[in-house]
Amino acid sequence: MTNIANNLSIICSKINIAAQNAHRNPDEVTLLAVSKTRQSEELMQLWQEGQRHFGENYLQEALDKIKLLQGNDICWHFIGPIQSNKTRSITENFSWVHSVDRLKIAQRLNDQRPDSLPPLNICLQINISEEQSKSGIIPAELPKLAEQIAAMPNIRLRGLMAIPANCEDPEQQRIPFARMQALLLQLQEQLPQQPLDTLSMGMSGDMDAAIAEGSTMVRIGTALFGPRDYSNKI
Ligand SMILES: *Cc1c(COP(=O)(O)O)cnc(C)c1O
Repeated sequence: MTNIANNLSIICSKINIAAQNAHRNPDEVTLLAVSKTRQSEELMQLWQEGQRHFGENYLQEALDKIKLLQGNDICWHFIGPIQSNKTRSITENFSWVHSVDRLKIAQRLNDQRPDSLPPLNICLQINISEEQSKSGIIPAELPKLAEQIAAMPNIRLRGLMAIPANCEDPEQQRIPFARMQALLLQLQEQLPQQPLDTLSMGMSGDMDAAIAEGSTMVRIGTALFGPRDYSNKI
């Protein structure tokens, strides 16, 4: 077994344990393999083990891999910051976008979605720790933006995504995740017609805390592939 395959089985058993500890069904938690900076050969090692969801942050790099791996039944998720001139490529090539935080971006993803594809699944990114430097809307902006996006025919509003402020303490890590879960519940009440079933939260360093607070999609890079090397990124 390769290292990467071994890491996958470790992560899957950690997801199972975290879900059981939270009295949740492990099937409710999808593993999104975050493959930014990784070669398509590395993605294929996971694919051979049954991994089908991959998350990418950088559009050009992602498009190269999507092309190389086409025909392999992969569900691609865009999880990085979005510039408005990139929306067409994103909505033509991905099934999910986790990092929507502006009406204009959602509108373009909707308008540019090809008719041949099902509606684009999106999550709204919440700046849950309300940090100056972070992307995402603050919670107070959520009801209005969600209502506007829910009316778009080529988009399915699936839920919320967050990257909380760095924190090492497992108990403290749960606080922003619990707030995210409360926000999703509020949104479900506000928009009962929408398929709001997704909380995209938890990374290599805080996955257990996220699952304890209701995460349905953990985004894992380092713990699967090892530390990233950004030296060849411009
Ligand atoms: C890079 C990245 C991850 C993965 O982080 P790791 O700590 O390597 O698991 C998850 N989510 C987003 C949005 C990222 O950019």
